[in-house]
This record gives sequence, structure tokens and C-alpha cells, in this order.
Amino acid sequence: MSKKSQIKAIRGMNDILPNESPLWLAVEAVCAGVFAQYSYKQIRTPLLESTHLFARSIGAETDIVSKEMYTFDDRNGDSLTLRPEGTASTVRAGIENGLFYNQQQRLWYTGPMFRHERPQKGRYRQFYQIGVECYGWSTPDIEAEVLAMIHKVFTDLGLQHTELQINSLGDVDTRERYRSALIEYLSKHVDALDEDSQRRLTTNPLRILDSKNEGVQALLLDAPSILDYLSPESADAFACLQGYLQDLQIDFTINPRLVRGLDYYNDTVFEWVNADYGAQSTVCGGGRYDSMVEQLGGQSTPGFGFGMGLERLVQILQEQAAPIAKQQEQDAPDAFLVSIGDRARKQMISLQAEMVRTGLRVQCHMGDGSMKNQFKRADKSGAPIAVIIGDDEAVEGKASIKVLRRTEAPIAQRTVMQNEVANTVTNLLESL
Ligand code: ATP
Ligand code: MG
Repeated sequence: MSKKSQIKAIRGMNDILPNESPLWLAVEAVCAGVFAQYSYKQIRTPLLESTHLFARSIGAETDIVSKEMYTFDDRNGDSLTLRPEGTASTVRAGIENGLFYNQQQRLWYTGPMFRHERPQKGRYRQFYQIGVECYGWSTPDIEAEVLAMIHKVFTDLGLQHTELQINSLGDVDTRERYRSALIEYLSKHVDALDEDSQRRLTTNPLRILDSKNEGVQALLLDAPSILDYLSPESADAFACLQGYLQDLQIDFTINPRLVRGLDYYNDTVFEWVNADYGAQSTVCGGGRYDSMVEQLGGQSTPGFGFGMGLERLVQILQEQAAPIAKQQEQDAPDAFLVSIGDRARKQMISLQAEMVRTGLRVQCHMGDGSMKNQFKRADKSGAPIAVIIGDDEAVEGKASIKVLRRTEAPIAQRTVMQNEVANTVTNLLESL
């Protein structure tokens, strides 16, 4: 018989395996907890949307829409796209369900996003984002709230060396005037621009600020700054946000070259950048997008939000050996149950359910196996306590409790009635 060829995952799409998923769950739980403290509610939208949604909101000239989307015709011939980000879907859902009508909304979401990029460290074709979107506030107070919330998430995670950069893109008029100034400056140095930037000079010059090319970045040091083109209103709002951040004691730097990859932003934009992580150093990015709701057919409603890349966040926590990452590695059951014989096994199954009912985390040895073998498994599980039901114990309705993880344990082994096991184990855990 010929060997069947092995089916592999699609390039750039990762399995998150059981040794890593506890940390993922812990990170998501920290985010969900902090968001709830600030009264944000979750929204869940489909992974597939009509292709028009992204073309109309993200902008046809962006990398995402021009070359990164997974787009296909379904069986009815409708063009569908796997969502490359979460904001457009949230706006679509909000308009469709009347969430913006005379209301303000604090929302968050999480889930996979899809972009056909070149896979590398921190850059994948399916990746997870956790994000927040706020609707109905045009003032910088909501921006400060969102940044304080991210800061709290990072503090609770124990994330180090991750710094906030902010910028203001002003209004449409600002960007028009700045665009001309930037084109004028860069046109004098066309030869120093890489091919990508030369093309963008005509299509989307602001994106050149985002270039990863070192020569281009050097050239940009002397380029005009968008901050010199802000209207008095935009400049005031930006100054106000900085005041709030100072009061919150959140350190930040102003980066006038920060433009973000999506076309829909105005006024405040921001990124949290990790100094240790290498090229894909942006953990989280977002900003204000006051025109998108209207652009997608809703009533004019200001928006502000961010998306955070969970792969990057999880990897940085692992690389930094953050306590939360270490805790998850040591994720072990409270007790491991072993049994010998059919009668004992039957009792073990009931005992596990009873112990779990009291809140304990309990793993059983399933299937046959010698006592020696079962103890090996118990040891491997990392559980501090083993509960043994042998033949003799089974007859008397008892179980033996043995401490596995301490040399000078308070007891070596003790036999109790099975209905006392949960209590005994709980007390023992406290004394270990
Ligand atoms: P980058 O400049 O790194 O491409 P971006 O501006 O395209 O980022 P956003 O669209 O703002 O990123 O997405 C927000 C966050 O999602 C990013 O800061 C990053 O942490 C994460 N992210 C974006 N694209 C990817 C990807 N292909 N793989 C993994 N994470 C990603
Ligand atoms: Mg990108």
C-alpha cells in the first residue's frame, strides 16, 4: 500500500498547541477582565463579510485591500472576504443593528484575522487580534480611557519594555496640505527612495512614512512634520490627550511619522511598540476614525479603537519569561487519581466527579496499568497529591492520599473514607 501523503496546515496558519493554549487563555482572560472593569461589552461578528465592506472602509490603496485579502466567490457568485481586521465588521454590525442610533458604545472583540502576507516571526496569514472600538465620542477623554485600559492590561500581564507612541493626523484638510508638502520634499529626493516608496509617491505618499527601508527612514528625518499642519482644534485635542496621559502617568513619545497602515484614521493615532521583539515590534495599534460609520452608510458617528496582535503579545511574554507565562507552564492538576481493579475504578470515576464538584482540578489514570506505571503518570502530571484506591480500599470505601511533591510533607500517606477525600485534599493543598 502506498504511503499516503501527509496533509499539512496552510503556510502562515498556526496550530496553537496544548502546551501554549493555557497562556493564550490567561492573556485573553486578563483582557476580558480589564475590559469588563471599564464596562466594555463584547461583540462577535462573522469571519466572512462581503468584499465591498473592506474595499469601502479600509481603502483601496492600502496594503491590506490591494494585496493581502483572502477573497473568493462563493457558490452563488458573491465575492466574500475573510476579515483582515475587526473594525469594518464592527461598524457594519453596528449600523445594521442600530447600535449607533442615539447611543454610545464601548465594544471589544477577539478572533482570527486573515492577511496574505509573507510569513515570518510575528507575521502570519491567520493571526488573532483582540480589539476595542468606541462609538459616539469625539473628545480625547475616551482616547485616554482606552489607552489607560491597554496600560492596565500590560501591567496585569507583567509585560515589559512596551512603549506608547502617539501622533495626530489631523482632519482631511490637514492631510491634504501635508500631503502636498511631503510630495514636494520627497520629489527632490526621488533617487533615494526605494521602488515601493517611489510608487507610493503618487498613490499614497503618507504611507511612505511607514516604510521599513532604512535609507527612506533616514531621508524622512528632515521631512516636514504633520504636526505643523494641524488645525487649532486638532492641535488642542492632541494637547489635551497628552495632559490626560501625564495625569495617568503613562509614558509616551510623540512620533510624527506614525501614520498606521489603514486609510480611515484621523486625529489621534497610536502604537504600543516593544523594544526587544525585532522587526514586528508593534503589539497594538489604533486611532480615531470619525468618518467610517458615515462612509459605510450609517449616521455620522465618531469612532476610536485599536487592534492588538495576540501572537506577538504571547511570544513577547514567553521571551520575557513573564510570571504569567511561567505560571501557565506549571499548570498542573491538584490531584491525580489511580486505582487497581474494576471495583476501584468505578469508585474512582465517582470520586473524580465529587472532587471536581468541590472545585478541585483532578486527573484520573484511565485504562489498565500497573501501580508503578500509574504512579509514573501521576508524577508526570505535576499533581502535588495522588489519591489511590486499591483492592483493600475499595472494599472498605476508602482511599489513600499521598503527597508527591514535598520531601518534608506534613504526612507521607493517610487513608480516609472516600467522602472525606475532597476535604482532606483541599486542606492538604493549603498546607503544602
Ligand atoms: P504591521 O505594521 O506590523 O504590519 P499593521 O499596521 O498592519 O501592522 P494593524 O492592522 O493595525 O497592523 O493590526 C493591529 C495589530 O495586529 C498589529 O499591531 C499586530 O500586533 C497585529 N498584526 C497585524 N498583522 C499581523 C500579522 N500578519 N500577523 C500577526 N499579527 C499581526
Ligand atoms: Mg500590516
